[in-house]
Amino acid sequence: MTDIVKSKQVQNLLDTAAGVNQSGGNPRLKSILRDLLEGLMCTIEKHDISEDEFWVAVKFLQDGVNEFGLIAPGIGIEHFLDLHMDAKDAEAGLEGGTPRTIEGPLYVEGAPLIEGDLSKTNDVNLTDDPDDAEDMVMSGQITGPDGEPVGNAIMHVWHANSKGFYSHFDPTGAQSAFNNRRRIRLGKDGRYSFRSKMPSGYAVPPNGATDQLMKALGRHGNRPAHVHFFIEAPGYRTLTTQINFGDDPHAHDDFAFGTREGLLPIPDRVGGSPEIHFDFTLQKAQSDDDERFSKRARASI
Ligand code: FE
Repeated sequence: MTDIVKSKQVQNLLDTAAGVNQSGGNPRLKSILRDLLEGLMCTIEKHDISEDEFWVAVKFLQDGVNEFGLIAPGIGIEHFLDLHMDAKDAEAGLEGGTPRTIEGPLYVEGAPLIEGDLSKTNDVNLTDDPDDAEDMVMSGQITGPDGEPVGNAIMHVWHANSKGFYSHFDPTGAQSAFNNRRRIRLGKDGRYSFRSKMPSGYAVPPNGATDQLMKALGRHGNRPAHVHFFIEAPGYRTLTTQINFGDDPHAHDDFAFGTREGLLPIPDRVGGSPEIHFDFTLQKAQSDDDERFSKRARASI
């Protein structure tokens, strides 16, 4: 193994490449890029990566650019971001509440905003398109840290159909724009209830970049059936989470690391079709920033 990364020559190369010795530019970007490059160089040195292998990797990234949103959870980085935020919360004494978990790449902005205040309606349906899956009902309450009902929340919910495809991203083109996607406006008591067609778990697109990577790692690209949520409410911290069905074969073997303890309800099938009761607990917002969504770029219609 060579040992040149710490040499003066390579250290100078890193400073120059990252613009460290220039007055212009973004200082934070400079120091992050410098560390990333140095880590990459150390990896090249440690594994004696050849020129051939390096350019294979570049080609893989170029060809896979449309799947970065899927590769990120697949290699655990999106989950690591959650762990990092959890650790920062713990340091700041901000524990408690429903665990956050990965958003994934399949949210679409602009879903219909519908009335979900249960004192005004009892019919909140997410599914627009025919689907021969069984009906699913999910209900519960959104409360704050002291058990108080969270008023005026908006629950954003999205899930796949029974073939494991999301509207807007369905390769078969079979679904209407916002099938299985809604924003539900809740009332003062924070109670919610909606019905839809039972989603199925899914695998990454066959032969895509994520699939190739998972196979090369000896892993699979499957997720358990799940339902995604954002929950926003005045005065509370916006929650990004999802529930994964605790009785799915992949419930504890999710390629995207989205399943977490506390987010694995097992549907009740006593009445026939699956019913899930799940209560969400939000944290109080410490600042305006806590009430907003992450600045991640999202699909919109
Ligand atoms: Fe998903």
